[in-house]
Amino acid sequence: MSNQLPRIAVITLGGTIASVPDSSGNDAVPKMTAEALFDGVPQARKLATLAPYSFRQYPSGDLSLKDILELAGLIEDMAQAENIDGVVITQGTDTLEETSFLLDLLLTTDLPVVLTGAMRNPGLPGADGPANLLGAVQVATNPQSRGLGPVVVFNDEIHLPRFVRKMHSASTAAFSSPNAGPIGWINEGRVRIPLRPATRTRALPRELISTSRLPRVALLKLGLDAEEALIGLVLQDGFDGIVIETFGGGHVPRQLMPSLTAAADKIPVVFASRTGAGEVYESTYGFPGSEKDLLSRGLLSSGILDGLKSRLLLTLLLATGGVRDEISQRFQDFLS
Ligand code: ASP
Repeated sequence: MSNQLPRIAVITLGGTIASVPDSSGNDAVPKMTAEALFDGVPQARKLATLAPYSFRQYPSGDLSLKDILELAGLIEDMAQAENIDGVVITQGTDTLEETSFLLDLLLTTDLPVVLTGAMRNPGLPGADGPANLLGAVQVATNPQSRGLGPVVVFNDEIHLPRFVRKMHSASTAAFSSPNAGPIGWINEGRVRIPLRPATRTRALPRELISTSRLPRVALLKLGLDAEEALIGLVLQDGFDGIVIETFGGGHVPRQLMPSLTAAADKIPVVFASRTGAGEVYESTYGFPGSEKDLLSRGLLSSGILDGLKSRLLLTLLLATGGVRDEISQRFQDFLS
């Protein structure tokens, strides 16, 4: 490969980065091809041979777990075929924090896998898609990115899926990792990754997942006067698991405890924090509905994962036959 450019598969899933507005600049819909995306970044073609793969043309809220399982299979097949050196995925930003985490839980390949998108569509002044795509190609062609697992590259920052969140509805700096910060950045085209994680996410056995019956995990966010009835309704409807976004470090109103305890006797119930950052507590408070009360009644800690990521992890653990102790351990894994 010495004089050859690295070969990067660019898999497009739609989103703002691929959205074409009408002549007045409005009503953008995701319909650009990968080739049209490349036209905006001639610099990327100097770094790599870009191989387009149009996978979906969706607003990212329409993507499903099944789509991402298929995408993971496609990436592993490409890696096995040994004719690519890395993968860039472009998609909508609305669910990027979830799809990147799913890929993190599913992929075993050491190839660089980089996800990106855009906040401003190509018809708007200051469209950020081309810069983000170039950044993604720069990271995907960098040898330091091998073995990291999937990363999100946005606004010249490199984020780990386990931490990254979309935290603004419009800013081109919409992505951050509140618990850890970015692990690296790009400056003048140079990729810096000074904060390589101590451990890579342990992939789950994808071959055990049957897409004909994926587990259903409810995500409930608490507010003042939270309705106890909701928990009963989720159970009645046959959900396989619950993630509850609790107050602060893992606290629920005391009146929820009977139904949460009953739910945890039947299905895994994981508690996360609704604050969006920080770990849930284990041993600080002892009031009814405190983190100690939740743990003593069989609820499981999400550790550092937020509600969205906890829901995906619990879904895949249930899909791969995970039982209580393993489920608990997998959440703890993200603390190291
Ligand atoms: N606003 C979204 C985006 O940034 C739309 C989507 O997620 O597809 O791409």
